[in-house]
Amino acid sequence: MSFEGVSVLVTGGTRGIGRAIVASFVGRGAHVTFTGSNAEAAAATTAASGAPERCRFVAGDVSEVAHADEAVKAAVEHGGGLDVLVNNAGITRDGLLMRMSDEDWAQVMGVNLTGTFQMTRAATRRLMKSPRGRIVNITSVVGIMGNAGQANYTASKAGVIGFTKAVARELAGRSVTVNAVAPGFIQTDMTAGLGEAAAAELQSKIPLGRLGSSEDVAEVVVFLSSEPAGYITGQVIPVDGGMVM
Ligand code: NAD
Repeated sequence: MSFEGVSVLVTGGTRGIGRAIVASFVGRGAHVTFTGSNAEAAAATTAASGAPERCRFVAGDVSEVAHADEAVKAAVEHGGGLDVLVNNAGITRDGLLMRMSDEDWAQVMGVNLTGTFQMTRAATRRLMKSPRGRIVNITSVVGIMGNAGQANYTASKAGVIGFTKAVARELAGRSVTVNAVAPGFIQTDMTAGLGEAAAAELQSKIPLGRLGSSEDVAEVVVFLSSEPAGYITGQVIPVDGGMVM
């Protein structure tokens, strides 16, 4: 799967799954523009990609509307157009529903769902001009099955699934495919705070018996963005070791 001459935009590429997605595309020849808020972490992503000259970082917050236009413009300049958008940026603000603050609800919806909407809206015109436009949204298995203590996060990720299907139908006539990847329990900074007991409890529920890696997710994102995946749209692909069947 060569991505020579392909321009990719990844949100939240400064660490974790996003960093692995950037490296997977760059390793296959793509020009990749990625976003995030931490310039130091961005430099580490660029260095880890193996081809810094094909990486470009745009600092910003996906929940701010002006940032979406700026990121798309940068990707078009860097890659000579835009072929693939990966909406990966996401946050958690966990807590039980009865104690969940308005702010924790709004922040999670703002980044995970509204951010995905804003980036997609900003990128759509450019993706329609590409001979192989692709959108891959990173949701979560909890958006399918629910999770106590994550009403905000779960609602945002379920929203991303509905959004994916609606936009897939809207853009199908222009040969732009829109799919979602639903990671299960992946070892990143986001899940590092869970504690050993909670992690062991979760691991016991994974049929394949191990936590996932960022690379496990990145490889599926790359496949859905490839030319051979051109007949797949509106789908949600779990990458979860079998948690959801
Ligand atoms: P992470 O916290 O390690 O990294 C998140 C990335 O998003 C970082 O680069 C961060 O800078 C960026 N980001 C956060 N808020 C942003 C904002 N407002 N604007 C721009 N960038 C922002 O998380 P991760 O584990 O790598 O998760 C990546 C995606 O995968 C998220 O959407 C997450 O919800 C999803 N996911 C993760 C897991 C898991 O187990 N780690 C499971 C299911 C889904």
